Amino acid sequence: MLYDNLVARSDPDAVELVLAHEMGHWKHAHIWKGIGLTLVGMAVLLWCGAHVLAWAAERRAFHLAGPADVAGLPLFLLALFVLNLVGLPIQNAVSRHFERQADWASLELTGNPAAFIRAEVDLARSNLADLTPPRPLVWLLYTHPPVAERIRMADVFAAQHPAPPPR
Ligand SMILES: [Zn+2]
Repeated sequence: MLYDNLVARSDPDAVELVLAHEMGHWKHAHIWKGIGLTLVGMAVLLWCGAHVLAWAAERRAFHLAGPADVAGLPLFLLALFVLNLVGLPIQNAVSRHFERQADWASLELTGNPAAFIRAEVDLARSNLADLTPPRPLVWLLYTHPPVAERIRMADVFAAQHPAPPPR
């Protein structure tokens, strides 16, 4: 995501990296993949919700006259809410995968792992980021890889792409 204060607050290398990262999302078609995965997820969610309603109606739970009884709406919404919570780690794992791909693309496009690491450190400082968050927390809630992991990726890139000697 790009904001109007990006240019004012960042050095040119960082701006280049942010743009390259967003181009990485474009390169890997993450918008379309995201829309596709969301549609599949919604279909699964609605299918499960319909089964919960059918199950409740069959047992005459909450005095439901049938699965289409509007009195079942709160149960349906509750089922969607719970299923969405259960699916959250999957959504976040996909998001972290997309972000890793965009990070790698930004390193390939800029060829500047040192600036990448500098930008990550600056970001971590200004956001007061947890450098070593507990793994279950990352697994449950993180849409982006933790800072230390992103810096490690830049280190791997630097090792694979040694800078040419200065002339
Ligand atoms: Zn991103």
